[in-house]
Amino acid sequence: MSADHHIVQDILSRGPFSIQPAPPLPAGKKISHDPPLITLPEIPDDSIEVGPGDIITFPREDLEDAAAGPQTMPPPNSLDAWAWYAPFHFYRADAWGIYIRESGLFELASRLVRRAQGTVSTKKLEHVAYYLLLDHELFHHTVEVACTRLQYPLLAAGGAPLYPSYFNCGYASVHEEMLANANAVRRIGGAGLSCPLRSAAIAELVSHPRPYCDFQAYLADRKYVSGKRVLLARMLDAAGLRHLPLYHNARELPLRQSAYFPSLLWENSLCPVRIVPDLGKMRLN
Ligand SMILES: [Zn+2]
Repeated sequence: MSADHHIVQDILSRGPFSIQPAPPLPAGKKISHDPPLITLPEIPDDSIEVGPGDIITFPREDLEDAAAGPQTMPPPNSLDAWAWYAPFHFYRADAWGIYIRESGLFELASRLVRRAQGTVSTKKLEHVAYYLLLDHELFHHTVEVACTRLQYPLLAAGGAPLYPSYFNCGYASVHEEMLANANAVRRIGGAGLSCPLRSAAIAELVSHPRPYCDFQAYLADRKYVSGKRVLLARMLDAAGLRHLPLYHNARELPLRQSAYFPSLLWENSLCPVRIVPDLGKMRLN
């Protein structure tokens, strides 16, 4: 059992915490906050938990008909309108995790089919749509785990969790969304930027509103790593902890950023994934 299992269980047993940020520690300097980008939806009454072996498909004709129809604007919250992550700090053990709307998956898959213009099979694009949503939201989960690892000594000593303050930091959300999209794109294909599946995903995501469309700033390996370091720094800033010698700056954290961010593979993750069946078209195999 992974160490993250214990820290997630620990947070679940102490929470749910208020989504409001905790007051900064005495002598802490709090940075000014823009509002966070995301408003978390209500937990739906109906959802189906899925695992890494499950495959969701739609009738091919329905996807291709939708792709041939009129093109619509992407939603303001990009992929987070079609799926979302309910953090374990704010939800009970039976409700936290990733939610993917069936209608959102269908919409994204049909948009990718339109982008690819027949160069890639509909079946493959459907798969890419699923993993774009999943890997974007899984990134949000790994950020919460990173924050939980970072805050653990403070929480164990009776302090407040860092995550609510971080979650409410608009500047951090901007970078987190760019990185979440970069992560989702980086995991497609594995054959470089010329992979047609990745090209279709990039063509779609660059059409989305800012900051989601700015993910290319974090696509390269070094940029991606430095972006995660930015998030760690924001976790400390948001709670006014930068003044502590231990946390003086993100480059001087006791461990490398990779020690805070867990594996991004769904198979190794503790994160429940649920489909919200709101369209009545999908088949689950
Ligand atoms: Zn997101």
